[in-house]
Amino acid sequence: MNKKEKLEFLKEKMQKDMSLPLRKGATNLVFGEGNSDTEILFIGEGPGYWEDQKAKPFVGNSGTLLNKLLQSIKIDREEVFITNVVFFRPPNNREPLPEEIKAFKVYLDEIINIIDPKVIITLGRFSMGKFISNVFISSVHGKVFNIKWNDKDKVVIPMYHPAAALRNGNVMNMIKNDFLKIPEVLKEIKSQITADQMTLV
Ligand code: URA
Repeated sequence: MNKKEKLEFLKEKMQKDMSLPLRKGATNLVFGEGNSDTEILFIGEGPGYWEDQKAKPFVGNSGTLLNKLLQSIKIDREEVFITNVVFFRPPNNREPLPEEIKAFKVYLDEIINIIDPKVIITLGRFSMGKFISNVFISSVHGKVFNIKWNDKDKVVIPMYHPAAALRNGNVMNMIKNDFLKIPEVLKEIKSQITADQMTLV
């Protein structure tokens, strides 16, 4: 199975998993979408009204901003993969509860394993908390964290949630700046890979 097929299989498994929370109040499962062979994975919080209606992540106001931020660094939305820490919409767009995030964790972990991205961008504090604990987003946003995921090197860059940027002009400036780090980090990773290949020859 290729990555795309593996993700499709996982999505079907999730559709059938009646143990998952938040299903009752939701219209659709929002599994995530994008390029399964991407180097960049975005992880947000959870579906809102429009995401729930359309079964796609980041298609409301936050999604419009995310698309613009991607355009600003000349990356097409279709090039990356976008998902969330919870996959059904929490009622009235409330924050996801720790036990809800925990219930979806096996699926999110599997998405990360399948895609095996080089860079993970967390949008908001809930997805940041998956990789980096005991920090404030205000002090670490836009910083590069080198982590091990299943014995593999990954770069995690925590960023503010686009919804926070829509509410606050300062946060908007910060998220715009933080996005500029993404091409720099990708370039660095690529030059590192080339250097490693050259030492192997
Ligand atoms: N906010 C999120 O965190 N995720 C979405 O998919 C949409 C809005």
